[in-house]
Parts: sequence; C-alpha cells; structure tokens
Amino acid sequence: MNEKILQRISKIIIEYATKQQVVEYNKISNELGGIISPIRLNEPLGEISKRCIQYGFPPLSAIVVNQNTRLPGEGFFTWVAAQMGFPNLPHSKWEEFYEEQEGKVFNCNDWDSFLIRGFSDNFSDNTSSGFASLQNSNLVDLLNTKEYLKGQQTKYYILTVKDFVETQQQGPYRYHVLVTENEKLIKQSMVEHKIKKQLLTSAKRKGIQLLLEIDMQIENDSVTMAHYKPDRQTTELWEKEKSTNLESLIKEERFQLLTNIVQKDIEIEAAQEDYYYRDGKNIEYYGTRYERNPINRAKAIEIHGITCKACGFDFKEIYGERGSGFIEVHHINPLFSMGKETDINPETDLVPLCSNCHRMIHRKKNSILTVEELKMLLKKKLTLASN
Ligand SMILES: [Zn+2]
Ligand SMILES: [Zn+2]
Repeated sequence: MNEKILQRISKIIIEYATKQQVVEYNKISNELGGIISPIRLNEPLGEISKRCIQYGFPPLSAIVVNQNTRLPGEGFFTWVAAQMGFPNLPHSKWEEFYEEQEGKVFNCNDWDSFLIRGFSDNFSDNTSSGFASLQNSNLVDLLNTKEYLKGQQTKYYILTVKDFVETQQQGPYRYHVLVTENEKLIKQSMVEHKIKKQLLTSAKRKGIQLLLEIDMQIENDSVTMAHYKPDRQTTELWEKEKSTNLESLIKEERFQLLTNIVQKDIEIEAAQEDYYYRDGKNIEYYGTRYERNPINRAKAIEIHGITCKACGFDFKEIYGERGSGFIEVHHINPLFSMGKETDINPETDLVPLCSNCHRMIHRKKNSILTVEELKMLLKKKLTLASN
C-alpha cells in the first residue's frame, strides 16, 4: 500500500476526529477523488489502525462508519481488535468496544505527531481532491494501487480513467488515457467533451495511438487494456478490455497510422519528381531532377565509383548481372535555380547512393539528411545490433 495514500486517508479521518465527527466510507472515497472505492478501504484502514496501535495512538478507523449501520466495518471488530489484544471479541461487546475507541480517537490531541511518526516518508501534500477532476497526483496514486494489474501481466498497459460519474449533470466529461511500460507511466493524454459522455471509444483509440507511437510493430500479447470506472456497480472498478476486441482496435489504428505515413511518403516522392516554386524573380526547383540527368550521373559514377557512399552497397555484387552499372546519384543540395545545370560540379555536388540510402536521405522534405548524418544513423544502428 502506497505511503502517500495511507497518509492522505489518515489526514482525512483526523480532520473529522478534530471536529468530533465520524466519517463515512464513501465520504473518504469521494475525498480521494474516487481512486479507492468505499469497499476497498478496509485494507488501508486496517493498516492505518495497526500503525496507530504501534505508535501508541487509538485506532483511527474506529470513527470510519458505514452509512447505514453507523458502525465501523466488521474488520474493525475482528482484525483491528485483535491487534489491540482482543482476538475474539464477542458480538455482544462490539458496541461497547466501538464507543470506547471512538471516544479515545476524539480525545486524542496529538494527531500531528502520528502523521509524522506513522509514515516512512513525509510528503508535502496540498492536493485538493474531490470529484471535480482527477489531478495528476491522483492518477499516479491510482496507478500505484496496481489494481489494474490482473491476470496474465504484460509489458504495456493502456489504461483509461473515467473522470466523471454518470449522474454528473455538467461537462466537460473527461477520460484520462495512460500508457505504462513495466508499471511505469510513459505516456499520458486525455479526451474530453463539453456535453457528450460517450467518449470511451475515443479514449481507447487515443491510447492505442500513443502506444503505436512507441512501437508500430507492437505485439498484441504484450499489451493489456483496462478501464477505470468509478461508478461501476461491482467492487472491481477496473474493467479489462476483451483481447479480441483490443486486437481488432490495434489492427484498425495501425492501418490508419500506416495510411497516413504512406500518404506522406507518396507526397514526398511526387515532390521529388516535380516541385517548383517561385522565390522572388527566380523559379526554384526542389528535388531530384538533376540527379536524374544522365550526364551528371555518369560523371559522378566515373569520379566516385559505383558503390553506395553511405552503406557500401554494391548492386552487382548482390543482384549479379541485373545490378551491373546501377547506382543512384544524389545532389547534396536539392535546391536549385532553374537553368543553372552547368554549375553542377560532379566531384563536390554529387554522391553515389544505393536506393535505400537515397530514399532515407530524402524522406523528410523539410530535413534532408547529409550523407554524414545518414552514416551516423547507420553506425548507431549497427553498434546497437552488435552489442
Ligand atoms: Zn546505401
Ligand atoms: Zn538525392
């Protein structure tokens, strides 16, 4: 159990204690922003009371009551009582025991020192919680409960956290979208709408998009998707997405992403063929026009040889006769003014490159790589592979 949550729950109870009031389970849950459902408070409450007893304080959970019975939960009379030396407290003595402990909690005026001594770390914690909206720290707390980890565990989790309840009358309605890798939060986003509550599908898609940004080839079985629903009618507030459903969502999103990427690549290819624009008086030409000029190409090959200057690829060596004499030629400055072909110096301006390296250099219109930069990428990749 997370120290910070335990301390925050203790603070909430102490606030009521100093007002000589009991507090209901669901009030604590609400004040925590719904990160722990009322029914799941037993465990942290037991832990808090155990520490109270350990440090000589009355058990704080004595004043946490069920809204119907107006009594603490059964755990208080069994587990907590046992910690205090009353292992088999008969049912007939419960009320007496409760009144006695409640009185002690109300009369204690040294709770500040419990807050300091009772917890292994001290946090400054001024987060205001409540249902208004889950703050980032609440989300981190929610992850720290690890309740989203169930069944077969996976490297990645896509989590959606519903940040409103169905009965809420006013928007905006919001889902937080979180991606974890080895139980660490690595990406975060949200979807929200002023009037629409049906946002879960968008949240799911958002989460998958975040994950595909990390790895487009992600394996389906390394991912779990789960949804946190604060107003779910069961004790289990996390709902796991069916794996078949997750698989088809990933497939759809991946195809969408791939289509966008390919679309851009096709635009780049078209731009390389014929992209002109006017710069003042001159018409500028951008692209591979001069690289496709046969005289330039032949001169460049004559000077620089027929293997790729970036990776060393030799077409004839790999493809035999079919590849003989083939290499592409790259102009190191893709921007020219029209009609200045004669200015090209094949020795300094042109470089032989294989088709792969050439494509990679041109792949991003606004950041054409130098041959040296491409070589650096290759080197990095090769070093990684050999390690
Ligand atoms: Zn190459
Ligand atoms: Zn080129």
